[in-house]
Amino acid sequence: MSLTSELRIAVIPGDGIGQEIMAACLTILETIQNRTQGFKLVFDHYEIGAGLYQRTGVDMRDEDFKAIGKADAILLGSIGLPGIRYEDGTEISPHLRIRDEFGLYAGIRPVKYYPNVPRRLLDDRSALIDFVVIRESTEGLFYTHGRGEIIDDLEARETLRITRPVSEKLFDTAFKVARQRKTRGGKGTVTCVDKANVFRAFAFFRKIFNERAALNPDIQVNYNYVDAQALDLIRRPWDFDVLVMENMFGDIISDLGGGLVGGMGMAPCAELGDHHGLFQPAHGSAPDIMGQDKANPLAMFLSAAMMLDWLAERHGIPQLAEAASLLHDAVYEGFESGRLSPMEFGGHQGMTDCTRTLLDILQTPL
Ligand code: ATP
Ligand code: MG
Repeated sequence: MSLTSELRIAVIPGDGIGQEIMAACLTILETIQNRTQGFKLVFDHYEIGAGLYQRTGVDMRDEDFKAIGKADAILLGSIGLPGIRYEDGTEISPHLRIRDEFGLYAGIRPVKYYPNVPRRLLDDRSALIDFVVIRESTEGLFYTHGRGEIIDDLEARETLRITRPVSEKLFDTAFKVARQRKTRGGKGTVTCVDKANVFRAFAFFRKIFNERAALNPDIQVNYNYVDAQALDLIRRPWDFDVLVMENMFGDIISDLGGGLVGGMGMAPCAELGDHHGLFQPAHGSAPDIMGQDKANPLAMFLSAAMMLDWLAERHGIPQLAEAASLLHDAVYEGFESGRLSPMEFGGHQGMTDCTRTLLDILQTPL
């Protein structure tokens, strides 16, 4: 038996800056792989997204959809291009189909401040910002995406759907993440963010939250209405640990979180289900800066680090967790030493320079 475990990674660069940051990300992963032992990542590339749709009229080939479902993990850049839409006028979104069909219910979106990133808030405590948004990603207010009802020229309707099985698994994930963070000095608190005062569906969501909380007594719980949560994230974001919420609230709050720590280029994401994991930055394809070498690739790299950590736990391969730490530490060191300075928040480094700095740090002898 070989001592090296081979893991197949489905690579979907996608559109816009997705292609640029994915190419950089694979260079980073190959460099890390050369420094560590015990695993081998094999990259299988798939063309999926708006570019493919424009050329061929399909956003994802059926055989590709089947193949990525068999991969050990999926690494995605970003999808969508301006002006390219389905016939019904909605955005090209094969990634939403992937989320739905693979049951990727838990979107894990860390929001962490790195040293020397310009602070959005004057308070010195903004250096302590370190929380994670857990966004339900298959139902909630996105449930009817693309299938909303246009009644007539005067009215349109969408559905808010909350189900017990998905909510239970979502909350269990939140408690697990809080427990993992607690072992690394986290607060061990989960805040349920909803609008239970207005919507019965959210009162149901909170009821299920309380049931799962009772099974996780080592973790503290809190509640916040989403509007108050938005206020609190500007007033005292350093007080939060794990925030769990419905799909659309999570979409909005995680962008707010990205803004607090520099921008969307600092916002990684893991989309997890029972059997699959997809890792992608929380941002879109940023067509306004594509092809200009201006994108901040760190959200992509940090998403890849989340992939390595997830694979480590799933396959019991500690070297993968070491590889994830190497990457996290390199990003931290890059900022702490002032060598990383992305244009996204006023620095002088475009994507190529950011990547080169990280490669330099990763190639420095231990
Ligand atoms: P989506 O619908 O997929 O969330 P979006 O329409 O919200 O996409 P994004 O593509 O996320 O839009 O871009 C929002 C803004 O953030 C744009 O101004 C974009 O240039 C900027 N942005 C996004 N990602 C990055 C990045 N990695 N580096 C620098 N700027 C970025
Ligand atoms: Mg967005």
